[in-house]
Amino acid sequence: MFHSKEKFKEEFAKRLEQAGGNKEPRLAYAVLGAMVREVVEEDWIRTNKRYKESETKQLYYFSIEFLIGRLLGQNLYNLGIFTIVQEGLRELGYSLAELEEMEPEPGLGNGGLGRLAACFLDSLAALQLPGHGCGIRYKGGLFTQRIEDGFQTEYPTDWIKEMGNWEIRREDLTVEIPFYGRLHPHLTDMEWVKAVPYDMPVIGASNGTVNTLRLWQAEISERPLPAHKDFEEYAMETAAISDRLYPNDSLVTGKILRLKQQYFMCSASLQTILKTLPCPVRQLPAHVAIQINDTHPAIAIPELMRILLDVEGLEWEEAWYLTTQTISYTNHTILGEAMEKWDSHLLSALVPRVYEIIQEIDRRFKAQLQEQQCKEEAFKKMSIIDDGIVKMAVLAVVGSYKVNGVAQLHTDILKNREMKELYRQFSGKFHNKTNGISHRRWLIKANPELTNLITESIGQEWIKKPILLNNLNKFAIDASFQEALKAVKQTKKNQLIDHVGKAGNSPIDPLSIFDIHIKRFHGYKRQLMNILHIQSLYDRIKEDSTFRPYPRTFFFGGKAAPGYEFAKQVIKLINAVASKVNKDPLVRKHIHIVFVEDYNVSHGEKLFPAADVSEQISTASKEASGTGNMKFMMNGAITLGTLDGANVEIVERVGKENAFIFGLHSQQIMQLEKHKSYRAQDVIEQSPELATLMARLLHGEFSDGSENISFIRKQLVDLNDPYFVLKDFQSYATVHEEMVAAYANSAEWWGMSVKNIAESGVFSSDRTIQQYSDEVWHLEKI
Ligand SMILES: *Cc1c(COP(=O)(O)O)cnc(C)c1O
Repeated sequence: MFHSKEKFKEEFAKRLEQAGGNKEPRLAYAVLGAMVREVVEEDWIRTNKRYKESETKQLYYFSIEFLIGRLLGQNLYNLGIFTIVQEGLRELGYSLAELEEMEPEPGLGNGGLGRLAACFLDSLAALQLPGHGCGIRYKGGLFTQRIEDGFQTEYPTDWIKEMGNWEIRREDLTVEIPFYGRLHPHLTDMEWVKAVPYDMPVIGASNGTVNTLRLWQAEISERPLPAHKDFEEYAMETAAISDRLYPNDSLVTGKILRLKQQYFMCSASLQTILKTLPCPVRQLPAHVAIQINDTHPAIAIPELMRILLDVEGLEWEEAWYLTTQTISYTNHTILGEAMEKWDSHLLSALVPRVYEIIQEIDRRFKAQLQEQQCKEEAFKKMSIIDDGIVKMAVLAVVGSYKVNGVAQLHTDILKNREMKELYRQFSGKFHNKTNGISHRRWLIKANPELTNLITESIGQEWIKKPILLNNLNKFAIDASFQEALKAVKQTKKNQLIDHVGKAGNSPIDPLSIFDIHIKRFHGYKRQLMNILHIQSLYDRIKEDSTFRPYPRTFFFGGKAAPGYEFAKQVIKLINAVASKVNKDPLVRKHIHIVFVEDYNVSHGEKLFPAADVSEQISTASKEASGTGNMKFMMNGAITLGTLDGANVEIVERVGKENAFIFGLHSQQIMQLEKHKSYRAQDVIEQSPELATLMARLLHGEFSDGSENISFIRKQLVDLNDPYFVLKDFQSYATVHEEMVAAYANSAEWWGMSVKNIAESGVFSSDRTIQQYSDEVWHLEKI
């Protein structure tokens, strides 16, 4: 519709006039959104037609979260009209950046898992592969975080109202979901819930492909209710299904509403997939691949069985064959508190027929194990139903044809420890797919300045083939390239300062080292270690008049699950230390702490490009992959971290000399855990420095509020420091000193930075998706 700036300006001005003609940015935003939507629609219809006519295999990516971030800018970029629109608007007196800010943040995810799903959709469309997202249209996304009196407070987020241009309600594709009911002699008395899809376009970068993100909304059904059910109660329970996202990251709640959400989205998606199948159901695996993102959608396995058995009338063996050739599973974590385990009673009450099928899957698998004379311990570990508990990860492995971890280390831990028995049983199923990030959002969109520098230096082929970023390697020791890179970094730092300054933060030294720790708050991510280290720096500056380190600004950002008290206390501690440090006229010349409120995708787009140092300091073995680490790397920040998750692969790429690595290795951590041989008290006693620091901390010198101190005490002393903060502390402090020393040598530092960018191409999610497609889904570019 608009291939030139002039055409765009003409069309835009005309529509603005028709819409009332005022100069309000809000009107401009609405008009622009509608125009973009029209452009997308043509391609969307054409893509769907192509898929239908070719009957090519389709991938459906089932995920309880899609953390898509704002769409306007990304969609303009992918349509190839970002610059036209940006310049056209400027000439008409508008700022595109300002209009982008008007879009509410679609916070349909908690963190890494949901963001991964969003990057995958972007890559699928960019590679012109037929792959679509299936999830829930939560009315309220993740809460908005404010810091009040140092504490996190949670506010509801209303994102959905203004998303009209990016979604269409598909009433025609409505399906009905059965809950509850009595089983015998056959299923009766169900409560039906209507599932209505809202489709969002997922635009491929400059290639005309538009895939679909289908988000389901729950509404009341017109079918009769069971006699005992009160309508008001039913209406409320129904609305609740797509009302809000559970705000927990790597933490299960075991709430029935969560199970309802999972079943709701799986059943709705599966029913639609089967209804629109272009072939006899017996050919399902040739036409459909379903990837389940963690175990939240694992109930798709028995639900697909139910549909094949009860609706399609297949025999068990055939239904099982089709199911286990269609579904594949991604494991995201080995943390005990994140493992989904449902009480049998809950499942059998909510979805009695599905539970009956799970029992049968379990019975048959157990019979097979017994036949193999499986040992008791292994038998127990591989039981899907164990002692009245349904283990969703085991169900997911048994019921799928491929199982993957999200980084090499994580996959190895699955194979050798966490799922050792299942790996022995199904060794051919296990494979690794190291996570990735969309370089379009996290480099091109977030950092156009760096993008330009790269393209000026190595041409633009890397945009389609990000691995070609490695052509930058030859600039690692090029002084003028280093200078240019440093200038870009300075620009991004200045922009970040403007951005956070608006939130009322005290002035930030633009020449300081930007050391950034942004991710969900969790014990294993060890924000506590970072803030303890900052306290130790504070002490040294106060006590040692020769210790005057190069200025550093420590940025923190991240949300805590509202019910995760320890994580919330760490946020409080950081803010308490910040107010002390930032007020001290001597100390603040050297260290400054900024807590960025409400960390989300949009803030991330400002933070990653401005970073010098990427804090990736999880307890080794606990972070399955991480993707924030990749966003930093691609923007030229140096990883300061443990050998955990994908950090291992980052270091393999850039070399140890181009990262700051510290701390115990995963094997060492797992040994200490296995033998319960770690004593935090010993570490404190052996280090006079740590002993003093702990004493000062526990006496409340950095904190305000005894509750805060008692939580930290409980974690580090009473609970014996479960994430090895104290154990790794000295090595963390040492690597920080090395980092500061390296920063003083400009040629060394910017050489490291170049190297990190040059080696980051492999972490584009285009690579991950191509591997999935080649090895698991077998999709065809149509
Ligand atoms: C990338 C991203 C994450 C994941 O960060 P990790 O450091 O890998 O935990 C979480 N939240 C947002 C908003 C992100 O963009």
